[in-house]
Amino acid sequence: MRNVIIIGSGPAGLTAALYAARANLAPLVIEGLESGGQLMLTTMVENFPGYRDGIMGPDLMGEMRAQSERFGAEIVAGDVTAVDLQSAPFGLQMSDARERTRSLIISTGASARLLGLSSERTLMGHGVSTCATCDGYFFREKPIAVVGGGDSAMEEAIFLTKFASHVTVVHRRDQLRASKIMQDKAFANPKISFEWNSELTEIKDVEQGVVTGVILRNLQTGDAKELRVEGVFVAIGHTPNTNLFRGQLGLDANGYIEVGQGSRTTVSGVFACGDVQDHVYRQAITAAGTGCMAAIDAERYLESEGG
Ligand code: NAP
Repeated sequence: MRNVIIIGSGPAGLTAALYAARANLAPLVIEGLESGGQLMLTTMVENFPGYRDGIMGPDLMGEMRAQSERFGAEIVAGDVTAVDLQSAPFGLQMSDARERTRSLIISTGASARLLGLSSERTLMGHGVSTCATCDGYFFREKPIAVVGGGDSAMEEAIFLTKFASHVTVVHRRDQLRASKIMQDKAFANPKISFEWNSELTEIKDVEQGVVTGVILRNLQTGDAKELRVEGVFVAIGHTPNTNLFRGQLGLDANGYIEVGQGSRTTVSGVFACGDVQDHVYRQAITAAGTGCMAAIDAERYLESEGG
């Protein structure tokens, strides 16, 4: 029987692990299929306080991991395949093991939706990004493309005009999904233009290892053309990793875990932190902050239960 199990090993999960370990709760972290979370897909992180020269995303996660292990957090590879959250102690099923825990911290994150191109995967962090706040700064005076037609895409496009020489929004239809106010802002911005009814079919240039352009296919005419850009921001939405908890925890309409009062979910003894409960801020530092909150909430819960 564990005091606390943490599912997920991004900034939220590893910060929860650090605090829970220092509270002598001997936490077990089940790291999940995407060990280290979304920062493993980034290159330089320049907005995490404490690293004034920046730090590579994977290095930052390595530091967080080692720091939590130093205080006794146990981190295991593996993925949780089923949970039983009816009442504490909670049951967790992994492919080759079962665990029981008095409290549970969920930090399974959200995954940025991707287009599914192999060039997108290869050039991720090398000109392709899913986060304008994180990477916009690297594209000063460069032409870039943003893919998507929702609020996220408009928000990213508008934000990126602070840096880029020009932003081309590539959208698969001839109408945006974004709210009217965001549309109006984007249409009024002289640095933003639109490629309507267009699908991004290829990002160049994998051989050079940098982005030099994109191939766009017009979905009405079938014509293809190349657009010269030096960066591509994919903003076609995020999917919270909450399938495991469906029917057992309160989720909002988009599938994010509902939290109230700190990190408390709708089940007593189950806490959530990081992007799995946050579709607004989505930053490593906010994820880490909520991870700290979840560990403190779990500690207080265990104390109140006499554990
Ligand atoms: P979204 O509203 O689901 O929009 C996703 C966009 O990406 C849509 O335009 C969609 O095209 C396009 N898309 C999806 N899959 C695609 C694919 N495979 N290839 C090309 N295009 C694809 O997602 P979101 O913009 O991330 O917003 C999520 C939620 O957060 C929304 O409720 C939104 O209002 C909210 N949000 C609000 C703000 C704000 O108010 N400041 C900011 C960000 C997000 P179609 O239109 O053709 O489906």
